[in-house]
Amino acid sequence: MHYTGTIWRPPYEADSLLLEVTTGCTHHKCKFCTLYDDLPFKFRMSPIEDIESDLLETQILRYNPDSIMTSRLWGLSRPHPIRRVFLTGANPFVLKTDKLLEIAALIQKYLPSVESIGCFARITDSKNKTDEELINLRQAGYDKLTIGVETGDDAALSFMRKGYRSQDILTQCKRLEQAGIEYAFFYLTSISGKGKGESGAKASADIFNQLRPFLIGSNMLTIYPASELYQEIQNGNWEEEGELEKYRELRVLIENLNITTHFAAMGASNAFQFQARLPEDKEKLLKILDRIISRSDEAELRHYRKNLPHL
Ligand code: SF4
Repeated sequence: MHYTGTIWRPPYEADSLLLEVTTGCTHHKCKFCTLYDDLPFKFRMSPIEDIESDLLETQILRYNPDSIMTSRLWGLSRPHPIRRVFLTGANPFVLKTDKLLEIAALIQKYLPSVESIGCFARITDSKNKTDEELINLRQAGYDKLTIGVETGDDAALSFMRKGYRSQDILTQCKRLEQAGIEYAFFYLTSISGKGKGESGAKASADIFNQLRPFLIGSNMLTIYPASELYQEIQNGNWEEEGELEKYRELRVLIENLNITTHFAAMGASNAFQFQARLPEDKEKLLKILDRIISRSDEAELRHYRKNLPHL
């Protein structure tokens, strides 16, 4: 299989086949981001021959009678059919519709058991597609995209150079909904900066409440020296929230959400990990956060974050 650099995927895509179709990010400008810094280029689409050869390799390994026999000899269970493919890269959904349809057709050709295709997407990726194209992509299997919207706070989106405004989140996600494409959000706790987290959380809840993300996953901002944001802090242009302040922000977000969704704080950036359904488990989540805020030690949480080698 072709895999280039660090491969990132959401926790809930653990059972999906990871297929490299792009590497890197077309935007590559967010001040806090170091995710694809290990690449010698900004963005690249994989040659279609590489994609096809990875699909063929998967088909052989998963379905070839010899492979099945080998698994039995090793005492392994018969491999399950592959139901979902996750396309790698920061935003493969930016590819032209024809290219995405060509990839979906190849997946069907080699792995007909696949029922859906997911990937990370930027809010701006659907701007270059018509409503009809989005419907065609849904029919070809594209569903449950993961979008790192980060926040609905326009000042933070602008300062961090995310490349869109909260109104774009509303417009593009409503278009996805109309096409029947489901999506999850990643929220970035602390993106608004010291003293502004709670108002940023309220602004975000206001945007999210007008949409239907099937999941809101929360990550906590962890600043690495290689990031532009680190430099902004050194220059006195931005201040990070304290660790307990981050949990107070998260509490405000959850308190103000009134949609039906799954809320998850998973992944290494969260010192405390939890997930629950909203709205039914809201009170339970708020109590968990109250306990974290009242019983945790700022210095210990800071120590945890400073020692995170990478996300
Ligand atoms: S869009 Fe995502 S991957 Fe690209 S620079 Fe921003 S945070 Fe990083």
